[in-house]
Amino acid sequence: MSETRYFVTGGAGFIGSHLVNKLVGSGPVTIYDNLSVGKPEFIKASLASGRARLIQGDLLDVEKLTRAVDEHDIVFHLAANPEARRGIENTRLDLQQETVATYNLLEAMRIHNIENIVFASSGTVYGEVPPIPVPENYGPELPISLYGAGKLASEGLISAFCGTFGMQAWIYRFANIVGSRATHGVITDFIRKLAQDQSVLEILGDGCQRKPYLHIEDCIEGLFFGICHAREKVNVFNLGCTSTTDVHTIAMILTEEMGLTETRLVYSGGERGWPGDVPLFRCDTTKMSKLGWTARYTSDEAVRKAVQDILQWEACLCR
Ligand code: NAD
Repeated sequence: MSETRYFVTGGAGFIGSHLVNKLVGSGPVTIYDNLSVGKPEFIKASLASGRARLIQGDLLDVEKLTRAVDEHDIVFHLAANPEARRGIENTRLDLQQETVATYNLLEAMRIHNIENIVFASSGTVYGEVPPIPVPENYGPELPISLYGAGKLASEGLISAFCGTFGMQAWIYRFANIVGSRATHGVITDFIRKLAQDQSVLEILGDGCQRKPYLHIEDCIEGLFFGICHAREKVNVFNLGCTSTTDVHTIAMILTEEMGLTETRLVYSGGERGWPGDVPLFRCDTTKMSKLGWTARYTSDEAVRKAVQDILQWEACLCR
């Protein structure tokens, strides 16, 4: 029997590189990444295994993308503008990097009769929701960030290509994913700020923003579990944990793990970190748990483990 051939957009990024690590164990992998954020060192081990190759390309380069995607069986689509707040300054960014990019990929798949797509969506598609665990069938979905709108538009396109051209999809609305090689997010923000000045740490908002944080190991495991066990034409899952962590607690865990006892925490104020930020979010993970999968780490445990992983990873890089 021939091996499954994988195509991973954004495979040199944070989540993508962990995914590729796992995929090389079961088939050849093509990483398609423009390296705008992702780094070759993230995929060094996978490339060295001889089971993965990197094509440096952009999802907006239709010709290159269409050629590259040929002769694959499953596409994992992770490339995107990863930072919701960038859309505040550049309102075209998410339209291009999510909606148009996803369309280009689906069309390239259609041309080559590739039927399976796994998509990294986000809890931001729900928008400003009541502080109850939000299930996958919550609606109407009214995102309040351009990033969330781009994710929702992409989900719509994926569903339409499945309905019209017989594709099958697994859409994961990720919680906040944390772990080594993270390229952005609250933990890396704090670490960067502390690298400049350990005496004070500025926290955006009032520090009470509370969300679920999922460790990267759980993220990759859950993602595979869903693919192996969900058989609908379009499978949509919240991928997260039931507990949440507030930003103040993240700052406390980080300073503790860094051994900083004198750092003063200052708050920029207001209930959200930036316009478009949803301050309180909980995701209902019942659908995944009914399928047979739950996260191993609580949100607080995931944050602490991620902080340790990141500090260790950065220490290795400095050696
Ligand atoms: P990341 O930035 O580390 O990875 C994204 C990768 O895509 C990078 O390697 C980047 O170089 C590449 N890329 C970006 N635009 C591209 C383009 N036009 N063409 C080709 N490559 C391009 O981000 P991540 O945290 O690993 O996120 C992966 C996916 O998961 C993204 O779609 C993100 O929106 C989604 N997601 C992430 C989180 C999280 O907490 N990290 C939460 C929800 C959803």
